Amino acid sequence: MVAVNSSVTLTGWIEFGVLLAAGLVVAEATRYIERIRRQLSDTPHVNMSSVSILAVTMLAGPALGAAAVVLLYLHLWWRTWRWTSGVPIYRAVFNASVMILSVYAAWIVVHAVPHGQILDIVRPQDLIGPALVIATFWTMNSVLVGAVIALEDGERSWARLLGSWSDNALEIVTLCIGVLTAALMIWRPWLIAFVLPTVYVLHRSVLVKHLEQAATTDRKTGLLNATSWRSLSERAFGKAQRYRTSVAVLMLDLDSFKRINDTHGHLVGDRVLQAVADTVRRQVRAYDLTGRFGGEEFVILLPDAAVDDAVNVAERICAAVRALSFGEEGERLAELRVSVSIGVAQYPGVGQDLEELLLAADNAMFAAKQAGRDRVCVVKGAPPSSRVPQADHR
Ligand code: GH3
Ligand code: MG
Ligand code: MG
Repeated sequence: MVAVNSSVTLTGWIEFGVLLAAGLVVAEATRYIERIRRQLSDTPHVNMSSVSILAVTMLAGPALGAAAVVLLYLHLWWRTWRWTSGVPIYRAVFNASVMILSVYAAWIVVHAVPHGQILDIVRPQDLIGPALVIATFWTMNSVLVGAVIALEDGERSWARLLGSWSDNALEIVTLCIGVLTAALMIWRPWLIAFVLPTVYVLHRSVLVKHLEQAATTDRKTGLLNATSWRSLSERAFGKAQRYRTSVAVLMLDLDSFKRINDTHGHLVGDRVLQAVADTVRRQVRAYDLTGRFGGEEFVILLPDAAVDDAVNVAERICAAVRALSFGEEGERLAELRVSVSIGVAQYPGVGQDLEELLLAADNAMFAAKQAGRDRVCVVKGAPPSSRVPQADHR
């Protein structure tokens, strides 16, 4: 049904022209979206050009697939990326090169299917071919980008190397649309008109997600910012009141942080802040609310937590922060040690609303400082009226 061999046919050129034009129309229409997304995030992210690139590759072969990459990326660079900070030209060239390698890898799979029938899908098992094409394209892209991040930053976390689940889901959906587009080009080319608005709206919805994330998270630590922590916590507190369950608040402050800044500089101070934020995140559950409250203060709301559980979490955080190290032996930062003081308060028992619970946790934190820092203090009983409550030192 489909002639897919490495020499380009006239049909191949026409398909290339149509899909390239469609890709450019979408890229032009979503220019402002792409620009804002770039400004909001400096991590590698999915753009919609892979719809046209994969479709061209499947229909007209890898040479025109690679040509589509070059032209679409030149357009992205010329019209969008060069106007935003944080996209050096070498990175654009690197992204385009990875795309070209993905095109050739996907082509190996397309070519392996007998008689060029990859898009001739009649039986369920015929789906295996296109699914393998998508998997190969995605793997090539992710593995290469991940490998370069690992080499550049010495980064070892899988989540950062491979991107978030939703980024990957988006990339795979983009490739699925690429396969559908290729099939439509053979079957009913005019239906491509319906693909264009789909891709446009998909791209827009990604922007909405990015904007939401930017508005609710603290850029330095990736935790919730104070405003969004408060509004989510108000909701969690209201729920605890209605269903008569418990909720605990941990107020955390880095000890003698000013000295760390003064001794090692603000950049090291920022690294310490990020490391503490990562540590806190690892010690709490996914539905606990962790926010950056102020400069070096963090606040955590634990829904459904008994006071002993909350104290255990706080003790775990204290120990994990104490164990942090910032350099190998012999390096300048090898000796740097960090600690935190944590105040714990739990509703019911303390406070009538979130504000009072926060005040109680803050007072307990202050008591922990006064008792010598690097420890957990917990408030028990009625809400405190003075700055230093009746806090138990642990
Ligand atoms: P204590 O143990 O009593 O909490 O002492 P401290 O030095 O931590 O407390 P203090 O409030 O005196 O100092 C807090 C310091 O945190 C001062 C400020 O410069 C620093 N800081 C606040 N935000 C940031 C930030 O985003 N990055 C860096 N590097 N430092 C910050
Ligand atoms: Mg402090
Ligand atoms: Mg402070």
